Amino acid sequence: MVRSLKEECLTLGRVTKGVKCSVSGCSKEAIRSISAEKVRSAGLNVGSGERRTYLCKEHYKEYKKRTKKEKKVEQLRYKRV
Ligand SMILES: [Zn+2]
Repeated sequence: MVRSLKEECLTLGRVTKGVKCSVSGCSKEAIRSISAEKVRSAGLNVGSGERRTYLCKEHYKEYKKRTKKEKKVEQLRYKRV
């Protein structure tokens, strides 16, 4: 499953109005569409088997927060090497 970065950029972030957040237990309106893999690796609880998930404002914030942390960890790793 290798997709070009360009394709990823074109398909990400588009949300049809009225789509609900994919995080279990959340039914707010989604503002962002993100690949389920990424959302899961950020630790958010989304339904399994779905390749594309939709995040509401709150959960998108949460997702960004968590991915930021991951990036920091990566930077630390680089510094150590
Ligand atoms: Zn949500």
